[in-house]
Amino acid sequence: MSRPVILVHYHELGLKGHNRSTFERRLIRNIQAALATDGRAYKVSKTSGRILVDSATHAEDLDASEGLALVKRLAQLPGIARVSCGLRVSKDLEAIKQAAERVLGQVDTFDSFKVDARRANTNFPLDSMALNREVGAHLVQCFADKHVQMKAPDVRVRVEIIKNEAFVYSISIRAVGGLPTGSSGTVLCLLSSGLDSPVAAWQMMRRGAQVIGLHFSGAPESPDSSSLLVRQLAQKLAVTGGLRKLVFVHFGGYQRTLSLAIPESLRIIFYRRLMFKVAEQVATALGAKALVTGESLGQVASQTLDNIVAVDAVVSLPVFRPLIGTDKQEIIDRARELGTYAVSSQTTDDCCTLFMPRNPETHARLDDVESLWARLPISVWVDEIKEKLIIEEL
Ligand code: ATP
Ligand code: MG
Repeated sequence: MSRPVILVHYHELGLKGHNRSTFERRLIRNIQAALATDGRAYKVSKTSGRILVDSATHAEDLDASEGLALVKRLAQLPGIARVSCGLRVSKDLEAIKQAAERVLGQVDTFDSFKVDARRANTNFPLDSMALNREVGAHLVQCFADKHVQMKAPDVRVRVEIIKNEAFVYSISIRAVGGLPTGSSGTVLCLLSSGLDSPVAAWQMMRRGAQVIGLHFSGAPESPDSSSLLVRQLAQKLAVTGGLRKLVFVHFGGYQRTLSLAIPESLRIIFYRRLMFKVAEQVATALGAKALVTGESLGQVASQTLDNIVAVDAVVSLPVFRPLIGTDKQEIIDRARELGTYAVSSQTTDDCCTLFMPRNPETHARLDDVESLWARLPISVWVDEIKEKLIIEEL
């Protein structure tokens, strides 16, 4: 008797000592949540060092293509190192050989293969080497035109003996790694419709954070089209299960006011400081303990070290910039993988494109900035903005 199964492998969790069971429970919950929209019932359970996903009823057994689709989906969940799809059978050599034959038969094209057996349980009569030989010999008979190759084979047929069962699979893909979302607290990401901040948000999700997205649109000074793009980006990021809410602010009016009140070259720094001030209050109100931006050192005028210092000084929450040391091309590559690139490449006006200076300051002096700032009715504006937040649960 064999049944299809998905095996979820997690490395880093294994290192977490006594937190391990909390992390495992969290990952199981995240997997259940990711599968809940499927209309099919799954059983998600834990066995030594692995999480197993089965169809809840025999009648609904997964076929190979459904299994592969599921593997690809789960591979996007933070906290998972690798996802495999194959068969679970009783701990019996004949059953293992039959299962190996079936899983190798599922592979489209290959010339060479190798059997890779592991025993989590040493009361199986054969050791790993003997299992490799026995199962390998059977496969050589079944697939006479293929050959065994120890180094870099096209396919690895894996056999894992865990407790009273054997798990046999040949489909296994690398997942995003990291930690299960929800295991590292909540952060608030300043999310534009650009390329960088969605990638920064994703990096935080991959490290286990739940993310709240905060977007400043140019409305009412420009159409609110950037908010639509941010919602589309949120759909792409939602596959991680790490995006909880979106918060929108109509910011164009404040930019207009600021652009009239301060020297042109300092505008961007003032827009940013006001954004950060609002972000800090929103974060505190919604239980987020840090701010996140998509900045990368020196990428544009507002991202020089002096300007970052001048902006950061306005808040007391930690500000994380996961992309600070990243090159644009690396960010683009990641955005392509995440599927956010196509959305972010659509140009639209957000608040950043409004009232931009021709020659922005690249080395703002903090004391100049602070003395101008002190003359503005910042807390009145922040209170006003807080009254009008648009909050969308995901
Ligand atoms: P991105 O590609 O993320 O838009 P960028 O290269 O355009 O970044 P900036 O416009 O300087 O750079 O923005 C720097 C960071 O400030 C962004 O990564 C984002 O975190 C935040 N930010 C900028 N504009 C907005 C906005 N309209 N709403 C929310 N956050 C914003
Ligand atoms: Mg931008």
